[in-house]
Amino acid sequence: MKMSCKIRLDEFMAGLIRRNPGESDFHQAVFEVARDILPFVESRKIYCDNRILERMTEPDRIVIFRVSWEDDDGNIRANRGYRVQFNNAIGPYKGGLRFDKGLTLDTLKFLGFEQTFKNSLTGLPLGGAKGGSDFNPKGKSDHEVMRFCQSFMTELFRHIGPDTDIPAGDLGVGGREISYMYGQYKRLTNTVTGTLTGKGLSYGGSMVRTEATGYGLVYLTDTILTHHGNGLAGKTALVSGSGNVAQHTVEKLLEYGVTVLTMSDTSGFIYDKNGIDAEKLAFIKQLKNVERKRISEYAAAFGAEFHEGQKPWKVPAQLAFPCATQNEILELDAKALADNGCLVVAEGANMPVSNEGIDIFDRAGVLFAPAKAANAGGVAVSGLEMAQNSLRLSWTRKQLDAKLKNIMRHIHEQCVEYGTDEGRVNYRKGANIAGFIKVAEAMVAFGNC
Ligand code: GLU
Repeated sequence: MKMSCKIRLDEFMAGLIRRNPGESDFHQAVFEVARDILPFVESRKIYCDNRILERMTEPDRIVIFRVSWEDDDGNIRANRGYRVQFNNAIGPYKGGLRFDKGLTLDTLKFLGFEQTFKNSLTGLPLGGAKGGSDFNPKGKSDHEVMRFCQSFMTELFRHIGPDTDIPAGDLGVGGREISYMYGQYKRLTNTVTGTLTGKGLSYGGSMVRTEATGYGLVYLTDTILTHHGNGLAGKTALVSGSGNVAQHTVEKLLEYGVTVLTMSDTSGFIYDKNGIDAEKLAFIKQLKNVERKRISEYAAAFGAEFHEGQKPWKVPAQLAFPCATQNEILELDAKALADNGCLVVAEGANMPVSNEGIDIFDRAGVLFAPAKAANAGGVAVSGLEMAQNSLRLSWTRKQLDAKLKNIMRHIHEQCVEYGTDEGRVNYRKGANIAGFIKVAEAMVAFGNC
């Protein structure tokens, strides 16, 4: 008997939860997409008949492995390594590696799923993947990080390659870690193919890659505001996080004449009523990238407020850029932002806003730019790094910045095309549908595989 291809959201989610028990981040990410895609799929019989959404929520492959390494005191340590190769319908697997002591497969499945849509939205031929380890880089010496990265790559290298899977950085994985892993990959394979992105400029890295996620986030927000007859200049903004994405978001916001009031780390947030200027941002960069110390030092140095263990969302401002980690804006945080008249919330991190938070923004008319659109600039310039490596050429900073701007503009156009309801742009819906279509078209073309 032929099964009906129509499926209700609650039935779809019940099946997903049964197959992936206890994985609440993954359930949350799929729900956020499925509630937009299922009604759309009903109107496109070909996607419905081919069960594309069901197939897209099942990763192509997951690799899990042991990573043994030796600490500075001569102790043997063991961690777990992962690579979730989610979908390669439109290009080789692509996505970052996260090192975080609390990392689980649940988080990586949500990130790999999201990455598939994000990479599709960039318009570049990139599939979706994510990986990492429960290794905690905090407080480790350079030598410990090096030994861990080399051991991690000693297993991962057999699963990746320039036409297969190209990892990059994410939380806890920056230039230092990518360099150690890339060095080991090159040694093991005796090839120079640029199989990781986010590399140093002297060995195949791309200009603008370090800045790309934060800059792209601001370019998209500028386009959103311009589309709604408004602009960035003169606005106030809340930024959370103080890592790569947050730093370059603040840097670009300053160029546009925005006053940035807050930044944060896992210990709390700083509130600088006078605004974080270029000199203060340089202090944050030194503090976080070189000294690897707590953000409270900023408060002591510049006489700003430090709110221990708190998040910045109750501070009144017109723009909010959550750039720390998933689920940092929950229902009450979203309510505080909406009540204080926030105009735009743009996700620099992946899934920082809960589904309840998104609903509050929808109801209050706060423009919400989801991560798969808003932070796609990072992976987009990774895609450009891959293109340069294949061409054995390097483009200039100016060329790359112009390409990044174009990609963010194109993402905005797709959101407007698929997310406009009664004259209002629902960026979440637009990004979900546009990201889905390209992958779905490829999967239909390949037939039943
Ligand atoms: N980790 C980043 C992201 O979430 C970048 C991934 C990449 O460059 O491959 O999109």
